[in-house]
Amino acid sequence: MNIVVTKHGEGQESTALHDELRRALAEVRPAVLIDGNWQAPAAGNSLEVDDPADGSRVATIAAGDEQDIDLAVAAAQRAFQLGPWPRLPASRRAAMLFALADAIEREQAEMALLESMDAGHSLRSIANGDVPLGIRSLRDYAGWATKIAGETPMQPADTTCMDYFLREPIGVAGIITPWNAPFLMVLQKVATALAAGCTVVIKPAELAPLSALRIGQLCLEVGIPAGVVNIVTGTGAVAGQALVDHPDVNVVSFTGSTAVGKRIMAAAAESNLKRVVLELGGKSPVLVFADADLDKAAKAIVGEITFKSGQYCAAGSRVFVQRSVYAALLDRMQAAMDRISIGPGHLATTDMGPMISAAQRMRAQEIIDHSIAAGAVVQRGGHARSGPGYFYEPTLITHATPGMRVSREEIFAPALVVTPFDDAASPHEVAALANDSAYGLSAKIWARDIGTVHCLIRLLQAGQVIVNGGGGEATLPFGGVKQSGFGRENGHVGLSAFTEIKAVRLGY
Ligand code: NAP
Ligand code: MG
Repeated sequence: MNIVVTKHGEGQESTALHDELRRALAEVRPAVLIDGNWQAPAAGNSLEVDDPADGSRVATIAAGDEQDIDLAVAAAQRAFQLGPWPRLPASRRAAMLFALADAIEREQAEMALLESMDAGHSLRSIANGDVPLGIRSLRDYAGWATKIAGETPMQPADTTCMDYFLREPIGVAGIITPWNAPFLMVLQKVATALAAGCTVVIKPAELAPLSALRIGQLCLEVGIPAGVVNIVTGTGAVAGQALVDHPDVNVVSFTGSTAVGKRIMAAAAESNLKRVVLELGGKSPVLVFADADLDKAAKAIVGEITFKSGQYCAAGSRVFVQRSVYAALLDRMQAAMDRISIGPGHLATTDMGPMISAAQRMRAQEIIDHSIAAGAVVQRGGHARSGPGYFYEPTLITHATPGMRVSREEIFAPALVVTPFDDAASPHEVAALANDSAYGLSAKIWARDIGTVHCLIRLLQAGQVIVNGGGGEATLPFGGVKQSGFGRENGHVGLSAFTEIKAVRLGY
């Protein structure tokens, strides 16, 4: 099992590296990573991974099943109970995580290309976004490894007792990730779990598992002990379900759809009451007021919905705009969509790649068609791009009512629903439009009036509010409310999913 073929690809044209990577991937034998060994899956089954830009086969991966999950969980359990990982000084765990970050950084060109080929996204967006963000997050958690601590309340000096609480690693973590940001999701979860001293079993998305496999290889190369990181590729229905049902898994950190999140919570309850962290879907509102910088807003809104072809959980997909600037914003968004260059992700000119699969594209089309039949109007796009691959036209939809499927369901395609609100609407009325959703992942505001902005920040039901495009380091807690799930990732808040608290009342 060895995916990487070149010495870090420096100076290579991305197309040459792309061809070389394709050749290497075609040679990879299907394997799961258990206890430090790449081994054939127990039942010998495999799955094909294709390139969403043309549907061609990229690699064949293992389709692991219950037996592989059992072996992987047993290895993770042994590594946790007997192995060195949770017993290492935190500074040693930190050093290995920093070494992993350095190893990924050394081959970031290949990693970005691998991810772009697997998930279909524009190489530029992965190379400038997901990969450096993942490396930063890993280093952030390497730093946290030495700072995880309990508390000792202040007590009188002459007391004959002592109260304090410890934070301990929770044990074996199951990590289940989606295909839309596979590298980032896997790396962030692994970084958090490992910093906390847990061991992990990863079930990556079957449609885009390759970066996870490469991360697994690099974990071994930098000396993370056998059994600490185990990977079982396969389907969610088989390998994923076996992981969430397993009685020796202590926490499942899941990112994916709300429907699967609900099943995971039920399985956790029925098996061993394992903890779950659920990062689920979204249908995020974007509120645009007449005093906003419309050029900037239009560019950012279109940039976000075309980033990963709209397959981005926190993307603003329901745009509500003050009526006096409705036409002006629509014009600007159309123009911004016209400028998006669509093509295979690995080409340097590509802004937006294909969607992940024919099935996802059909699902999006079905939601859009259903709403058109109910009276919604397509101003631009609304259909697939003809030719090979799973490309979809950037799409603007107006005249949608709140009950329509395009207004309620996650389309997960580059499609925006745009609706005007009255110029005289109060912040409460605008917030009510935004909050009329089962989801609550993210909300965006474009406005200059600070009173309106502050009032809306309080009223919006979302795990995150981004004002005028935001900025900063993106290390704030991330997660949703309502049916976007619960729990938060990033920073010290994210560590609490993987640690348990033990209160101690010591008398002497
Ligand atoms: P998905 O269908 O829910 O799948 C996510 C993962 O769960 C995949 O690895 C999947 O396996 C696995 N799975 C499926 N059924 C399972 C089961 N019964 N038990 C255990 N695992 C199971 O989601 P997706 O289509 O890959 O990703 C898109 C969704 O993820 C969207 O809803 C998006 O909003 C959400 N998302 C949320 C965030 C966030 O941070 N909140 C971030 C990114 C994406 P397969 O690969 O076989 O399907
Ligand atoms: Mg793929």
